[in-house]
Amino acid sequence: MTSQEIRDLTQQYVMNTYGRFPVVVDHGRGARLYDPEGREYIDFTSGIGVTDLGYGYQPWVDAVAAQAARLGHVSNLFYTEPAARLAETLCRRTGESCVFFANGGGEANEGLIKLARKYSFDKYGRGRATILSLKNSFHGRTITTLMATGQDVFHNYFFPFTEGFRHVPANDLAPLEAAGNDVCAVLVELVQGEGGVLPLEREYVKALAELCEKRDWLLLVDEVQSGVGRTGSLFAFQQYGILPDAVSFAKGIAGGLPMSGVMANEKCRNVLGPGTHATTFGANPVCAAAGLVVLETLDDAFLAEVKEKGEYLRRSIEALELPCFGKTRGMGLMIGIEVKEGYTNREIADRLIENGLLVLTAGPGMRLLPPLVITREEMDAGAAIMRRTLGA
Ligand SMILES: *Cc1c(COP(=O)(O)O)cnc(C)c1O
Repeated sequence: MTSQEIRDLTQQYVMNTYGRFPVVVDHGRGARLYDPEGREYIDFTSGIGVTDLGYGYQPWVDAVAAQAARLGHVSNLFYTEPAARLAETLCRRTGESCVFFANGGGEANEGLIKLARKYSFDKYGRGRATILSLKNSFHGRTITTLMATGQDVFHNYFFPFTEGFRHVPANDLAPLEAAGNDVCAVLVELVQGEGGVLPLEREYVKALAELCEKRDWLLLVDEVQSGVGRTGSLFAFQQYGILPDAVSFAKGIAGGLPMSGVMANEKCRNVLGPGTHATTFGANPVCAAAGLVVLETLDDAFLAEVKEKGEYLRRSIEALELPCFGKTRGMGLMIGIEVKEGYTNREIADRLIENGLLVLTAGPGMRLLPPLVITREEMDAGAAIMRRTLGA
């Protein structure tokens, strides 16, 4: 089919919930994507932080094909080797104790919330169920995670929402210290992704961890976007020097297949016992086999390179001195670019995409989440499109 036929068919039969860019993607190689007519795009999006190994990465393709041929699904009523090994690898490399596998980020965050509320219920009974989350955060699209999300634009239409969430400003300990006895947990993104690529301050995160310990609040970290190598460590919390009570992950874990999960520490190991939490597709063996390739690939040397590439790309973009861009920020290959007054991020994204560079927006700025395997040559090709498209 041609791009136009595919766009038309989609518009006729797929629910109209997305403001899509007018590009049809057919296949990819490395950090390059191609439409059905063969037009090439440099990818600075990774399918929103998912395809960390890029496209056509041979060990990933081989592992997925082999596992699909062996066993595609069996449910959590039975044991499978890929999920067992993936859980072990995640725990060994983070210091967490156990994993619950799910399918998407919002669903993983529902797991964090259930874990925190049950932990508190078991110990203190009812009435201590409030979860504090941060202004400008994003935690998902379910009725509950919309409420966990600290942006009022998301708290509309779908009333009634789940009770028991309050939002406090980031990097300010005072409102947390003043919180009452109804609180059971604090939920944060260490680098706010959708909110504009805003890393939390180190000192604040340390103090927050201490406060949670003191008040017996669970420290819940949403690493759906920042996890799995994106920031140059396997998880961002490792760079903050904390061990959260529970961590959600999703996007990058299986290199393009739908998988997510919750990791929890020893204290939370037995909170969600048999019958309290479940999901049919969770721990799917094909996704888990893909996840094992991702984690094998993301060794220490690879993660160090992610940091270097992030610095290289930020320097390259700042050196262009484009009239529409201000400063860059972020960690590793999770990069935000300020958009100067008089320009809008969506228009900039439209123009870059039209000229062959896929980019994302976040908050009022631009967001870049290139595949972690991106090469210097591919980053240079992307920067050249920026210069041609946006230069004075
Ligand atoms: C993308 C994202 C989610 C939601 O994940 P889905 O897979 O879309 O449900 C939640 N939290 C953060 C930080 C995210 O970036």
